Amino acid sequence: MGFSNFGLSAPILEGVKAMGYVDPTPIQLRAIPLVMEGRDVIGSAQTGTGKTAAFALPMLTKLQQHGGGTRLLVLEPTRELAAQVETAFRDFARFTNLEVAVIYGGVGYGNQETALRRGVDVLIATPGRLLDHIQRGTCKLDKVEFLVVDEADRMLDMGFLPDVKRIIERTPRQRHTSLFSATMPPEIETLVRWAMKTPEIVEIGARRTPAETVKHVVYPVSQDQKSDLLRALLEKVNYDSVIIFCRTKHGADRVGGMLKKNNHAVAILHSNRTQREREQALNGFREGKFEVLVATDIAARGLDIADVSHVINYDVPQHAEDYVHRIGRTGRAQASGDAFTLMVAEDARHMASIERFISQKIPHVKLDDFNYKYTVLFDEGKPNTQPLSERRIRGVRMRGGYFFGPARRR
Ligand code: AMP
Repeated sequence: MGFSNFGLSAPILEGVKAMGYVDPTPIQLRAIPLVMEGRDVIGSAQTGTGKTAAFALPMLTKLQQHGGGTRLLVLEPTRELAAQVETAFRDFARFTNLEVAVIYGGVGYGNQETALRRGVDVLIATPGRLLDHIQRGTCKLDKVEFLVVDEADRMLDMGFLPDVKRIIERTPRQRHTSLFSATMPPEIETLVRWAMKTPEIVEIGARRTPAETVKHVVYPVSQDQKSDLLRALLEKVNYDSVIIFCRTKHGADRVGGMLKKNNHAVAILHSNRTQREREQALNGFREGKFEVLVATDIAARGLDIADVSHVINYDVPQHAEDYVHRIGRTGRAQASGDAFTLMVAEDARHMASIERFISQKIPHVKLDDFNYKYTVLFDEGKPNTQPLSERRIRGVRMRGGYFFGPARRR
């Protein structure tokens, strides 16, 4: 079944063709007919599955022509995601006369106000800045027919749900609502009951399954050899582009700085960087100017960065679902990639919960020819979790109640 069987309008089909899409992805196959029928849809799918087109194509078809105020509103948790979804909408709508605008914080109000005054059919926005515009009287939502809450679980994580509710209250009750979320915590279920009308759930893959094309492994290492191992790994691995995830902004700066010193072309993405810096980092990475992007979770959430050959978790994510999001950067749509996780002893508990979450054991591997100071329990999986007080190993640094045993001579 191709795109032409959905009843999409001719200009939208032309847009799809110009994007080079041939076959609909599973979420598109299931969600497009539902939105065409006017159903509310909950999409439980990760980024990389083609979810943007799944809601954009039928909604743009229904809007048809420019005029009549803002009729389609898409809420996104981050500026980068908002900008990316705006680009996708512009691409899909390029053969229509529909006006698309994006509004987010961190930049001036001027251009956004001009766009809003001119009249937009499709508005993509982050919640905070949208509320600012509403309060300033520069934006009205009383004509909204289609509302999309994207990455709802991340909105929750970032504390945006109250803002999202305030925004929804400003839209007409007889709108169609779609919501996308990789996970369904109780707060989101409450929002769904409040904001949606007998929604149809479209679940692509098990919610917890990371992209199937991704091969993942864990590299156990001691804390003080982590950066050495990362450097060695980058030298060994034949990558085209790699995203390295760090837990903190400070950590991202440090790792990014270290790799720059090692002559890697590196871009850094986290929320303390200015909007301009973030755009430069992202665009440069997309264009191939940088081969390495060092990022924090919030900054990288859901970004559509195509053709990433490798994801490296420099720090094990604290939340199991972030693991799935991180490695979702590789294996996007039909491509494939590798995901490496550097694990220190303290991470054993988090790693175990990730494995439970994805119902999969991730093999522990050793980097050949790397001069490990300490032996780690590669194949057996778990490091020694015996309490420190019960251990007496001379000359071994112990941290956080776990340890890696001294290096075995080979
Ligand atoms: P998304 O999950 O919406 O972020 O989309 C992930 C990537 O897949 C984007 O680069 C899309 O342009 C691409 N994509 C979406 N749908 C299709 C399709 N039917 N065929 C090929 N690529 C697609």
